[in-house]
Amino acid sequence: MASQPTIFDRILDGEIPCHKVYEDDDVLAFLDIGPLSTGHTLVIPKERKAFLHELSDEQSAALGRVLPRLARAVMQATGTEAYNVLQNNGATAGQAVFHVHFHIIPRPSRSADGDGTGLAVTWKPGSLDGEAGRTLAAAIAAAL
Ligand code: AMP
Repeated sequence: MASQPTIFDRILDGEIPCHKVYEDDDVLAFLDIGPLSTGHTLVIPKERKAFLHELSDEQSAALGRVLPRLARAVMQATGTEAYNVLQNNGATAGQAVFHVHFHIIPRPSRSADGDGTGLAVTWKPGSLDGEAGRTLAAAIAAAL
């Protein structure tokens, strides 16, 4: 049975309006309705897949072709030079809308108390053991 249409399917179908910034045969980009910063933009494939790993090579290539161009346009329009590209897969990873999407999130400036952007990234690196790394890299390569 087909899954329920997501809010992004309904935007693609024209049932729900959006602030569109870009569209081609494969991709739509529009402003996030709950922006983490001014210019927060979503980029979605027209293919209706929940997760990045389900996308066809063609749709993946179409997204890759336009993401840098869209990032440049968002930066130019908002006058920012830094940004994060975020792409969540699965509820555990923070995904709320189960249609593949890339967030382009401008980061206006850095100051002691943050940049006012509603995005907090905590980065706590571990360490990679040489032997474990070799085994893991080989397992991933074999799964390709
Ligand atoms: P994620 O947590 O990665 O699934 O992010 C989903 C994003 O979709 C959130 O940033 C929402 O603010 C955004 N969103 C939900 N509904 C709409 C809508 N109708 N138009 C634009 N953005 C939306």
